[in-house]
Amino acid sequence: MIPLAIPNLEGNEKRYLCECIDDGFVSSVGEFVNRLELDAAKATGSVATVATSAGTTALHASLIVLGVRPDDLVIVPSFTFIASANSIRHAGAYPWFIDVDPESWCISAKQLAIELDEKTVVKGGDVYHKATGRRVAAIMPVYTLGNIPDMDEINCIAASYGLPVLADAACAIGATYKGLPIGGLATLSAISLNGNKTVTAGGGGLICGQDESLLNEAKHITTTARVWPGYDFDMVGYNYRLTNLQAAVACAQLERLEQFLQVKRRVRRLYNESFAGLSGIKAFPTPEFCESSAWFSGFVCENSDAARIVSALNDMGVGAKAFWKPVHLQAPYLECVRASSLDVTESVWDKVVTLPCSTIITDDELHVVVDAVKSVLGA
Ligand SMILES: *Cc1c(COP(=O)(O)O)cnc(C)c1O
Repeated sequence: MIPLAIPNLEGNEKRYLCECIDDGFVSSVGEFVNRLELDAAKATGSVATVATSAGTTALHASLIVLGVRPDDLVIVPSFTFIASANSIRHAGAYPWFIDVDPESWCISAKQLAIELDEKTVVKGGDVYHKATGRRVAAIMPVYTLGNIPDMDEINCIAASYGLPVLADAACAIGATYKGLPIGGLATLSAISLNGNKTVTAGGGGLICGQDESLLNEAKHITTTARVWPGYDFDMVGYNYRLTNLQAAVACAQLERLEQFLQVKRRVRRLYNESFAGLSGIKAFPTPEFCESSAWFSGFVCENSDAARIVSALNDMGVGAKAFWKPVHLQAPYLECVRASSLDVTESVWDKVVTLPCSTIITDDELHVVVDAVKSVLGA
């Protein structure tokens, strides 16, 4: 089976891991953790970054630092991986689901503005959702597939309500918006270093941003809120630190970020060009003002059954897969606040087919995938 997305470990990963073991620094103190935070700051245009145990924990810690409290609402698109919403619940808050824009599959700025206008009231400097009485505490756009929505517009809406913006940039390392890297596009941004992401640590995450004091606070709460050099702790902190072993892998990965992005984008282009003429097939959206990190590639089948296509491709040895099922349709989130319509989300999610897009994919494998798709679609 040609796998969907497996890590490319052909760089310095093994060498750096051996260094950790030889030096005895395998846990959360070590030179690779520090180096990763500096290298990632450079790569993302951040003043600093904080290495965490996962993308989910990066999101959770960021929400706390941004002032999200139990029983608050956090605005998030429903078309995302469930971890976005889980991190909100981990903070004790609840998601408020918004639709996505068909041009980006990212949060619809237009609907966001309308929902805030019609369904909230501002009292004493805070924003309250009228129907539930809950305080609205943050907006969490998601960089779906490595696409970036119109952040100028989203930041402008957020600013007019005094709301912080936390970007779920889990799968967007390397993406740019109007030429700018992700570190400065939101109040804070969270990246995932999970095994299927463009840059992996096995598991892990990074908090990025340009506000040094928020990032210092994030580091504090993700490292048990210890006040050095003694054994004092000034709040209930979290053990969310990445280990040196994981950071060693991530450092080696980050050295090849540009190369990985080139492959990801080339695979995206090749699939788009190969399937351009096929009837009922649409390419994944790519908004004009951003250069997507093209984390995943594939196509949208407008008329046919995506599940059938995926299973036919699997039978032919192609590791195709369906994509995110919207969170408002998931058991733990059925009762959460929703926008008046989630039409785009509901009409697109079960038509998405993702195709093999590892950065170690070969040209031969790409041709096998293209031929298999054409044969399954009867083209
Ligand atoms: C991968 C992913 C996450 C979760 O990251 P983990 O490192 O697995 O916790 C969250 N949100 C999105 C959009 C993702 O793609």
